[in-house]
Amino acid sequence: MDIDVSGIPVTVSTGRLPAPADVDEAIVAAAARALPHTEGAVADCIPTLARADPGSFGVALAEVGGEVHEWGDSRLEFSIQSVSKAFVYALVCQELGHRAVHDRVGVNNTGLPFNSLMALELNGGHPGNPMVNAGALVTTSLVPGATPARQWDRVRRCLGAFCGRELDVDEATYRAESRTNGRNRAIAELLASYGHIEGDPVAVADVYTRQCSLAVTTRDLAVMGATLADGGINPVTGERVVDPGVCRDTLAVLASTGLYERSGEWLFEIGLPGKSGVSGSILTVSPGKAGIAAFSPRLDAVGNSVRAQRVTAHLSRSLGLDVFASATARPTTAPPTTARPTDEESHDQH
Ligand code: GLU
Repeated sequence: MDIDVSGIPVTVSTGRLPAPADVDEAIVAAAARALPHTEGAVADCIPTLARADPGSFGVALAEVGGEVHEWGDSRLEFSIQSVSKAFVYALVCQELGHRAVHDRVGVNNTGLPFNSLMALELNGGHPGNPMVNAGALVTTSLVPGATPARQWDRVRRCLGAFCGRELDVDEATYRAESRTNGRNRAIAELLASYGHIEGDPVAVADVYTRQCSLAVTTRDLAVMGATLADGGINPVTGERVVDPGVCRDTLAVLASTGLYERSGEWLFEIGLPGKSGVSGSILTVSPGKAGIAAFSPRLDAVGNSVRAQRVTAHLSRSLGLDVFASATARPTTAPPTTARPTDEESHDQH
């Protein structure tokens, strides 16, 4: 990841977002800086994604107080793709609990591409974490429901509650991905052979493909993120979707695994949990403050939107969101409490 953050002053996290007008101003500045970046390529792994307008660009920030700031193509619909993994994981954590999901799905980065079969083999069939396809397929298989149709209904309703409106499948993307998702079906079969998926692996892959095809907007993603930032209450509808502990677990997993093989670099530059999707969206969560979403279809070599990374890096710095940025609590003018001996004095003591 090559995110140029030069010249963007780092504002220390204060526990609060700046005033709404300052947030609007920061979004405009961040978008203006990211806009000229036309490098990268639109995803071609699913035929409908390859037809996306490469120039589209939307940004949205939803505050935990319910105010939503939007810029550009924030109401344009696209398929949610991998960003869905975060919310299905939250749903399953809510239903099964912290320990059971940890044991079944794991939390460690695989260091390999999101759709790797080799990662599974190297881990003795363990999926690794819920943000790669193997882990996401296991997560989806754990959604409560007597039949795949009931599980699917549960997923759709839960993700709808996270964003505060009923979500529909982008049928063209669902059909296109169903024709081309042999690799995901293979991962599901392999997981089943290791005993990590119960039931029909092909049906699990189908529910997973549907969840990835849900049509959302950048605004929707920001509200979904704000729900995770707000301890599980959707700040726009006021509905409790999941418990605070589930949000905490989900964000911890996103911090280490949300940006494909560049998750470490993302945490280093942005200092926030995030999740990337191959349509070109990145959702970032600032706990206790806001959900931030950006969408622009041109991707870098590992599948992260070029402009979305840049706009988020800018906002993390200018709005004081980076959880690792701190200032000393002591007044900087105070003299040190104990003077360190000079080299000579320290030498004399020996
Ligand atoms: N539906 C895509 C897949 O499973 C999602 C890829 C992504 O967004 O990372 O391959």
